[in-house]
Amino acid sequence: MSKLDYIEQQIQELKDGGVYRVLPVNYGACTNVIDLNHSQVVNLSSNNYLGLANHPQVKKAAIKAVKKYGAGTGSVRTIVGNQDILEESEEVLAEFKREEAVTVFQSGLNCNIGTIQAIVNKGDLIVSDELNHASIIDGVRLSKADKAVFKHSDMKDLEKVLKEKRDQYANVLIITDGVFSMDGDLAKLPDIVKLAKKYNCLTYVDDAHGSGVLGESGRGTVDHYGLHGEVDFIIGTLSKAIGVIGGYVASSKIVKEWLLHRARPILFSTALPPAAVGAIIASVHLLMESTEYTDRLWENANYFKAGLAKLGFDTGHSETPITPVMIGDEAKTMEFSKALLENGVFVSGIVFPTVAKGKGRLRCMISASHEKTDLDFAIDVFGRVGKEMGLIK
Ligand SMILES: *Cc1c(COP(=O)(O)O)cnc(C)c1O
Repeated sequence: MSKLDYIEQQIQELKDGGVYRVLPVNYGACTNVIDLNHSQVVNLSSNNYLGLANHPQVKKAAIKAVKKYGAGTGSVRTIVGNQDILEESEEVLAEFKREEAVTVFQSGLNCNIGTIQAIVNKGDLIVSDELNHASIIDGVRLSKADKAVFKHSDMKDLEKVLKEKRDQYANVLIITDGVFSMDGDLAKLPDIVKLAKKYNCLTYVDDAHGSGVLGESGRGTVDHYGLHGEVDFIIGTLSKAIGVIGGYVASSKIVKEWLLHRARPILFSTALPPAAVGAIIASVHLLMESTEYTDRLWENANYFKAGLAKLGFDTGHSETPITPVMIGDEAKTMEFSKALLENGVFVSGIVFPTVAKGKGRLRCMISASHEKTDLDFAIDVFGRVGKEMGLIK
């Protein structure tokens, strides 16, 4: 008997349920083709949308920052961790996002967890889309506000909640993902903003999958819809399309002032390392200088989606480079993913509890770093394996 038997038992349950997994190991950089578990495979599962994680200028900027500022910041921002390069990154991001101010956090998850609890209180209400990201759910749990959920992108249901509850609370904060990560659909932001005005609510958009993807040169979902100045809290990640690590809030200056005093990851967790910050600045400059990265991303995504549709696969209702291949049955989904890998294509299977039961899918993530030959190879493998498994005719 060991005190940790209860954990062993839970692991045994995972094994019995067929959902225990061993993490695959990538023996090199995150690129179009990767050395996964020592075999070369086309990588259809990264969030490195624009290939910036390995851009020579971005890597060079990281090295330059290390030479001047060292490997670590040595402190939280509120003591001596607030290096000038970090402030510079916030200025560059605010210019890029066309918003008044930006506050940078150590990750997107961290940003949601720190921001939500800082901006609402007891006596306030958070109204959240049912498919919002786990880091929003955790952020909401940590806040002292009450919580209500509306059906995914259902504006009638959102209005029903607001009608019923608005008067009982001081502030009401509507939170939504900008792009929903499992289906690739967009939030109905113009309608959400309208309802927020009608019912005097605050708005909060987590644009992790929209940053660097949608809008002019990747300025995000708010830019895509032309809603600058209309959303109170715009969250972005620096870990996906920007290719590094970090998260941020784009907002008014007053919000930034408050976050610097009350967001717990800023007060109680060490600031981002200089290498990351230098790389972030370089990535954002690349996007401000040219749309070539986002143009190539969309071109690749449209090419790949058309190829799969032509084979007869159901690619759902994505409006972004996120390309789900709907399978349904959980075991079939995992079997398909495994067979693709054996044929040189890595794409992760997504099943319950990440998505609803019976909605298993492969989630293909297309990147500007893919060559046409990678995409042709993957489409060919999807066709062959799909036919062998009877998923298409
Ligand atoms: C990926 C993601 C995050 C987390 O971002 P990290 O920077 O990786 O921590 C937060 N919110 C959404 C909607 C995401 O998709």
